[in-house]
Amino acid sequence: MKTPDFPGEPVNLSESTEEDIPVAVRDTPDTRRRSRLQPFLIILAVLGGGAIVLGLILSSSTSQSPQTITASPQPTTTDTSTSTTPEESESESENDVDNLLGHLPYEEAPLSELEPITSDGRIQLREAAAKKFKAMRAAAQADGIVLVAISGYRTQQQQQHLFFDIKAQRGQVATQRAEVSAPPGYSEHHTGYAVDIGDGRTPATNLNTNFENTAAFKWLEENAAYYSFELSFPKGNPQGVSYEPWHWRFVGDPDSLETFYKAQNLDRPDLEPSPSSSEPEDESSTREQGTGNRE
Ligand SMILES: [Zn+2]
Repeated sequence: MKTPDFPGEPVNLSESTEEDIPVAVRDTPDTRRRSRLQPFLIILAVLGGGAIVLGLILSSSTSQSPQTITASPQPTTTDTSTSTTPEESESESENDVDNLLGHLPYEEAPLSELEPITSDGRIQLREAAAKKFKAMRAAAQADGIVLVAISGYRTQQQQQHLFFDIKAQRGQVATQRAEVSAPPGYSEHHTGYAVDIGDGRTPATNLNTNFENTAAFKWLEENAAYYSFELSFPKGNPQGVSYEPWHWRFVGDPDSLETFYKAQNLDRPDLEPSPSSSEPEDESSTREQGTGNRE
């Protein structure tokens, strides 16, 4: 999706697709053609970037309760030590965003753009993300760390099962279910940019918050950014979503960046379906076990 939704993005300055992302994000600024506009562009980009950074700082420095930027319900998973009381988020009324039980809509990645990241081909990511993931896994391996892909791209149909079937199996009401699983159509995994990562040496920590104690997680914290992966739901995230140390998303190209960062402006009514934020979509922060249907 193409849209000039970045804060401070110069509007319609050129026909070139590179204009779809702010100047600050571009690899090679075109100084030849638009030298007159350059100072203007830079100012806009700086302002926009500053707004994003400020927003992130503000939201991360505040408590776990949902801020005005969030559209999600409370995280109430049992594993996070700081479980909060489930209350319906008041932010839903503040943000005119198309969300469902706090989850935002994501489009499914085109099948033609998917590439396997496991040898059996069962787990896939969108091509750009897949390449970076593989490079990251190889680099980790060289450091003696075993990164294991647990889940990548998911169809809405797969999410349908995860949400509704498991919900029925457990006798959960929709709001309960939504605390730990995204409804179909509302999972970051649909985008093909999100991957759940485990530590091959400690599989017992898979999809569990104690994954944060593994060597794999520590390695990711230090190195994932070099491969353009970031934690979707860190502790105290602006969305008020349950902490998911295993769930990483790719933000290394314009499409992925837009997909996830447009949602940072949840108070905007003009969001297209694609944004981010809010989705404790992986089961595992619950202590429940038995069904084995974490993903
Ligand atoms: Zn996930």
